[in-house]
Amino acid sequence: MFFHTQKLINPIAADEPDPAAANILQEGLGGQFGEMRTMMQYLFQSFNARGDAKPFKDLIQGVGIEEISHVELITTTINLLLDGSSRYQGKNAKTKAKGAAAKKAPKEPGAGGTTPLDEAPFAPNTHHFIVAPQCALPVDAAGNPWSGSYVYASGNLVLDLMYNLMLESTGRLQKCRIYEMSDNKTLRSTVAFLIARDHAHELAFAKALESLGVNWGKVLPIPNFDASQYPEVKKLMDLGIHLKQHHFRLDGSEMGKIFQGNSPVNDGTEVETEEEAPEGAPIEDLPERPEEFAPGLTPELLEMVEAVKRYK
Ligand code: MN
Ligand code: MN
Repeated sequence: MFFHTQKLINPIAADEPDPAAANILQEGLGGQFGEMRTMMQYLFQSFNARGDAKPFKDLIQGVGIEEISHVELITTTINLLLDGSSRYQGKNAKTKAKGAAAKKAPKEPGAGGTTPLDEAPFAPNTHHFIVAPQCALPVDAAGNPWSGSYVYASGNLVLDLMYNLMLESTGRLQKCRIYEMSDNKTLRSTVAFLIARDHAHELAFAKALESLGVNWGKVLPIPNFDASQYPEVKKLMDLGIHLKQHHFRLDGSEMGKIFQGNSPVNDGTEVETEEEAPEGAPIEDLPERPEEFAPGLTPELLEMVEAVKRYK
């Protein structure tokens, strides 16, 4: 069973809403190499693990549990990038109003007799406004639904670990590309964290393969590029978050038998498994969006919600 703490695994920086930034982040959520895939792949591999290789099962499961929090973090980030974009007048806005006219344009959806959702038809994925109330969807950046067929869980420990390393490396590659597509601070704060954590997970699976006899030499990380050139990533790497693993287990874990000692990158750094979960950051409630009819509570229903809140 799993326990839940209502916190984000990393804080999200504030910036303007930006539906284009939200859409490129969808690849990191529901794409073939996105967070939904890493979460499901590692959980299935750990649920289906056979035989007596407990430290390896614990390592795969510990990473899988962390990936649940990555799905939560990237979904929340997409929500923040979409929320309020129906009044969006920023540099990427596609409204008819430009320049001085944009400054005079109504900031509230529907104000001055305008169409409340007139930004939505120009968004890269109109489903963010039609199917969801300015929120994330389980799809990739091209709108393809997430697929269970992405999950690789063969039951062969070496093959599963090799595939996991390829998955983390491709995830890191794609997130570096996404970072370079937008300077939106909301997007970058989450992408930077995920780049640093992909790095840690590459090391975790490399370490596991190393303990089975594989020598990585100078191959890792893939892409072999120093992500500390990105200032948001540098800040996190200075804290060493790319060298740490948390196992998120209340009953103890044996993953630390694998994830400890010399980094498989052989750069003189050491990796370590921490017993404590990360501190976490608060999750703010999304505001009501009357133009999306969400949550769409009438005064009578609101009264009942209030009654539930008062209930002791
Ligand atoms: Mn992840
Ligand atoms: Mn990962």
